Amino acid sequence: MKTEREVDLAPYTTFRVHGFTPLLITVESEEELIHTLREYPNARILGGGSNILMTDHVEFPVIRIAMKGREVETSDNHVDVTLKAGENWHETVSWFIDNDWGGLENLAYIPGTVGAAPIQNIGAYGVEQKSCFVRLRAIERDSLQPITITNEQCGFEYRNSIFKHELSNTLVITSVTYRLSKPPHSVHTSYKDLAEEMSATSHLDDTTKSSVPTIRDVFDAVIRIRRRKLPDPREIGNAGSFFKNPVISMEQFRQLQSDYADVPSYPQNNETVKVPAAWLIDRSGWKGFKDAHAGVHEKQALVLVNLGDAHGSDIVNLSNKIRKSVSDKFGITLEPEVNIW
Ligand code: FAD
Ligand code: NAP
Repeated sequence: MKTEREVDLAPYTTFRVHGFTPLLITVESEEELIHTLREYPNARILGGGSNILMTDHVEFPVIRIAMKGREVETSDNHVDVTLKAGENWHETVSWFIDNDWGGLENLAYIPGTVGAAPIQNIGAYGVEQKSCFVRLRAIERDSLQPITITNEQCGFEYRNSIFKHELSNTLVITSVTYRLSKPPHSVHTSYKDLAEEMSATSHLDDTTKSSVPTIRDVFDAVIRIRRRKLPDPREIGNAGSFFKNPVISMEQFRQLQSDYADVPSYPQNNETVKVPAAWLIDRSGWKGFKDAHAGVHEKQALVLVNLGDAHGSDIVNLSNKIRKSVSDKFGITLEPEVNIW
């Protein structure tokens, strides 16, 4: 366990805006976590800091989750892998691919830790972590006792879970168990970018290779697309998508479509439709916008960026201006996906 005082958290988050905590405690085991929670029951939890935007002064202690470890249980058709919360997400997915374990390859190259993945039920290219999630173990803040929560109990939804609502700030996740497939695998390549990337590179394949894409083909394609399209947080501070994609009623969508015939849409069911927030922001004129400190990424309008020395408030101010203009133009309120501290 490591305890540091008056720490600037900028290097611990991908937005890299400054924010001082009176106390940063790095824990490497459940015992250290319980001990720290007993002393600082209101401390906030930090994983890889890739979904957090800090304001200038964080008035509370922060516990950084750094516990590592992997356990594997194999059966004929699948493997159950239990990962400690501080394991790096992308390294973990990469390790699954090296072992030919399938299911989460579409979630390659997402920054952050395993322990944070269930919080917003991370997803990309039509796959969410919930499709392989079995259970998690957590320490309850009140009782300081371990509990197990199963997939059905997590209330996983689109970029959402019970940990953002009823159980918000009531527990700290210490490990997660995923069930991965053994070959033969089925792969998901329905997203246009992914399908195009895979077909653009399939002619490069060795002719002796099967034409059916492998989980490694998907993993590699996702990495190539993301490297091209998204800003690397090591070069430009950001936290991925700043806003959630709004899901609106069919009635509201029909009205929108009558005004903007080219609006992209993805029906969720008979009653609701997902509209890409990036399109709404782009059509409101913000794509590529830059002020002195903050901006909107030129290749992906959903990503707000720190242009060098932004404060958290610069990013929040920009996000409020974007929300207002999208609301004025389309009558849709964008909600932040990023956790603002
Ligand atoms: P943090 O940012 O450290 O924390 C996020 C929240 O979870 C905070 O509220 C924190 O208190 C809480 N938390 C963290 N760990 C624990 C724990 N062990 N127990 C309890 N609470 C905890 N997300 C997607 O869904 N899909 C994507 O494709 C995607 N792409 C991204 C691309 C980029 C370039 C970036 C920067 C971000 C992207 N994200 C994406 C967002 C982010 O990577 C995920 O939300 C990730 O799961 C956050 O993990 P973290 O460890 O960094 O969490
Ligand atoms: P994209 O492929 O250009 O698609 C734009 C939007 O349309 C996405 O938000 C996506 O919704 C939706 N979409 C596209 N094809 C779809 C389909 N076949 N069915 C349903 N919805 C569809 O998106 P992108 O920005 O390049 O990102 C690619 C993937 O990585 C997306 O899944 C995105 O969510 C994920 N990603 C997430 C973050 C984050 O921080 N949360 C950051 C970067 C990328 P969904 O977002 O619902 O998939």
